[in-house]
Amino acid sequence: MNKKSIKDLDLKGKRTFIRVDFNVPIKEGKVADDTRIQGALPTIKYAIDNGAKLILASHLGRPKGEREDRFSLEPVSKKLAEILGQEVHFADDCVGDEVKQKADNLKEGEILLLENVRFHAGEKGNDSEFAKQLAELADVYVNDAFGTAHRAHASTAGITEFVGQCAAGLLLQKELEVLGEVLESPKRPFVAILGGAKVSDKIPVIKSLIEKKVNKLLIGGAMAYTFFKAMGYTIGKSLVEDDMMPTALEIQKEAEAAEIELLLPTDHKTVDSYDPLNSMREMPIDFTNSGLVGLDIGTETAVIFEKALEGAKTIIWNGPMGMFEEKPFDTGTIAIAEAVAKATENGAFSVVGGGDSVAAIKQPGLDDKISHISTGGGAALEFLSGNKLPGVEALDEK
Ligand code: AMP
Repeated sequence: MNKKSIKDLDLKGKRTFIRVDFNVPIKEGKVADDTRIQGALPTIKYAIDNGAKLILASHLGRPKGEREDRFSLEPVSKKLAEILGQEVHFADDCVGDEVKQKADNLKEGEILLLENVRFHAGEKGNDSEFAKQLAELADVYVNDAFGTAHRAHASTAGITEFVGQCAAGLLLQKELEVLGEVLESPKRPFVAILGGAKVSDKIPVIKSLIEKKVNKLLIGGAMAYTFFKAMGYTIGKSLVEDDMMPTALEIQKEAEAAEIELLLPTDHKTVDSYDPLNSMREMPIDFTNSGLVGLDIGTETAVIFEKALEGAKTIIWNGPMGMFEEKPFDTGTIAIAEAVAKATENGAFSVVGGGDSVAAIKQPGLDDKISHISTGGGAALEFLSGNKLPGVEALDEK
């Protein structure tokens, strides 16, 4: 990585502003899943051990540029204190005189967590006045929020204009190293699995994977129906993007020209209508009549996809194979999670990103069987598409 790392900075006695990703689920005022907090611990502990005065900033949820109590980071300060076994000071805003005083009063190794940066419209607007106010809290800046690195916001990009030294945290660094390696020198066979709702969201990454000559491209989820409709199949009322049909055909042609094996489902689980969901039937794709809705890949497809993963040396997976949130339409996605875990045990390097795919890995407890679970679905897709991430670009060169 050609960007400065936190390890290149002298942190001793410095107010170290760390943009973390503490966008965790909150239930009844408590942190329901602390995965993202755990992800930031190596950087936080490194900063503590090196005498930094830590100022942690994050967003949580999608408040509309003003205070909304349900999106407060206060429960996170309690959880972090519990995990670290040390006090975490909490500021009920992220800018202003009182907050600055709290930051200035920190002693080495102490932590101040700021309130949600998205309580200010200036955050998402990347407003330079707001960024400057954030920068007043910082002697040095560290970005460890890979999940928002693809956004040019005040706390991920704007702030770097006003702070002398800006570096990557350990989590961000690891994500860039792993994804960079996969993109630049993947061990082969290299297999990509893409799913989810829309082809349109995944076009750049598909194009980039074709350019990088991925060996196999497995496509599931609703996005497969755009391919099927473009190929002349009846897909009933399954989710489709009509305007993407020419693109789907173009992708097929490009894959063929590059000698990439592009696999689509051969069967699927359908229902008669969206409501009720209990009319489930499994059938070959070409048996679909005009009244049906396809909601998951079928058993045969899961087996074919699993076989396609056998012997793979690199695997990337983003997006569910079906309407994962509704049982029994989660089974295709879980079968793929198991197949990716199995291929990893057999020597593949696997990278999984995106909320649903990561949840599918966690549900059967397969997390430790995956080589790298990315903390940023959107950011990982942007990066794998070959695009620059504003939150990374803004950091100092080595
Ligand atoms: P994405 O954000 O593009 O990765 O899409 C994830 C969403 O796609 C999830 O909410 C799934 O429920 C949805 N999805 C995947 N496959 C299907 C399908 N066959 N029909 C309807 N929704 C689907």
